Amino acid sequence: MRLAEKVSELIEQKKSQFTEASDQVWGFAEIRYEEFRSAELLANLLSSEGFQVEREAAGIATAFVASYGSGKPVIALLGEYDALAGLSQQAGLDDYAPLVPEGSGHGCGHNLLGVGALAAAVAVKDYLIENPTAGTLRFYGCPAEESGAGKTFMARSGLFDDVDAAITWHPGTSHAVMQVTSLATTTVRFRFLGKSTHAAAEPHLGRSALDAVELMSVGVNYMREHMIDQARIHYAVLNTGGSAPNVVQSQAEVLYSIRAPKSAQVRELFERVQDVARGAALMTGTRMEFAVTGATSDLIPNPALEKVMHRHMEELSPPVPTEQEIAYAKRIFASIPEPDKQSAASRRSREQVEALRNNPLLPVLEPLIAGSMPMSASTDVGDVSWLVPTVQCTTATWAFATPGHSWQVVSQGQSSHAHKAMLYAGKAMAATAIEALLDPGLLETAKRDLELQLGDESYICPIPFDVYPPQPEKPVVKPEPAAASL
Ligand SMILES: [Zn+2]
Repeated sequence: MRLAEKVSELIEQKKSQFTEASDQVWGFAEIRYEEFRSAELLANLLSSEGFQVEREAAGIATAFVASYGSGKPVIALLGEYDALAGLSQQAGLDDYAPLVPEGSGHGCGHNLLGVGALAAAVAVKDYLIENPTAGTLRFYGCPAEESGAGKTFMARSGLFDDVDAAITWHPGTSHAVMQVTSLATTTVRFRFLGKSTHAAAEPHLGRSALDAVELMSVGVNYMREHMIDQARIHYAVLNTGGSAPNVVQSQAEVLYSIRAPKSAQVRELFERVQDVARGAALMTGTRMEFAVTGATSDLIPNPALEKVMHRHMEELSPPVPTEQEIAYAKRIFASIPEPDKQSAASRRSREQVEALRNNPLLPVLEPLIAGSMPMSASTDVGDVSWLVPTVQCTTATWAFATPGHSWQVVSQGQSSHAHKAMLYAGKAMAATAIEALLDPGLLETAKRDLELQLGDESYICPIPFDVYPPQPEKPVVKPEPAAASL
């Protein structure tokens, strides 16, 4: 029996367990660093499957590592399970209807992501039981991908140091090996401290922190003409210093996100933004302090592993949607704003767009391309990819043109087709992991690929050593009242 067929059989045997777990995580909808129930569910599942589970990995309450087997090589499967604030939505609908007003929701499909990777881990373990071989399989329970840089903290604490290959996926709108690079990013909070006075009686004695925030924005906006086109700098004022115009603002705060294709470019831009902030403080007679709150590195693709994963995806072939699934996908497609549709269509041929309009869940595997495409987004998978040869795939869990971080993603998060596409990704990851475990030559080529792309650069963790992830309190769950005895 071919490997693809074998893993397919192993995953199908336990598919109801996997889809149920994914739906449960969807229901928990816990945001970054608060994924207590989601992490617990996945850790317990792996523990009951015979994995050794180490909780609170890297000192993060909702991170864990589950291992099976021993020795080299070490193959990692990465799973995420955090939701997004403000994206609550009922499942299975084609119009906006929050489940919990202002609640959170799985707007990036991480319920599918975590469980798809878990399904792969269980299948590889079941395969190893039948075909014992040396090596360690690890499932990394990675919290806070959304603006939390969970994996960056995990990488900093050395959790990936002995790993030979890392495999993951992301839900999406097409079936493909992800041949992409991502933007490195640093998020930093700037705080200005001035002096408060009566704005009319003694303005000459006051020093405005709000003025400093405004001048910093002016300076950064002038920088834009003199930085590379692909860089992005966004900011949000967190604290304007109060609502009274007749009081000179003694404190003000602004949050900046600096992004660029390479980590080194972000470091250079960050230095310049700091200079602008210092200038704003000098101009206003205020004091400036800053703190990095999160950062991720750019993604390093791995052609050797991509080739293998693509071959397995081809052999497994994408799930074919039912008439009912296509009908729902068409209703979702109809709900998507025209500019989003046009943006999705702009990357495809006219014939492809026509086919996708007729079936927004088209069961077609995208061809492998030479090289990789830049992706205008950031991910903490990037930090792992600097340390370990890393490969990812995506599958069409959602209708064509579904925008990321939207209610439509949440709505489709429990659909029968999303489940099938999740299991397809699980199978592709499992087959790739087994091949990596059995073929030392593949791991060597993958390692060479990584070294070649890094050149003389090595990983510098973009988060300073004195910055730690937030530690929200675990919510206290009230015990169920004891059932009355008869
Ligand atoms: Zn995501």
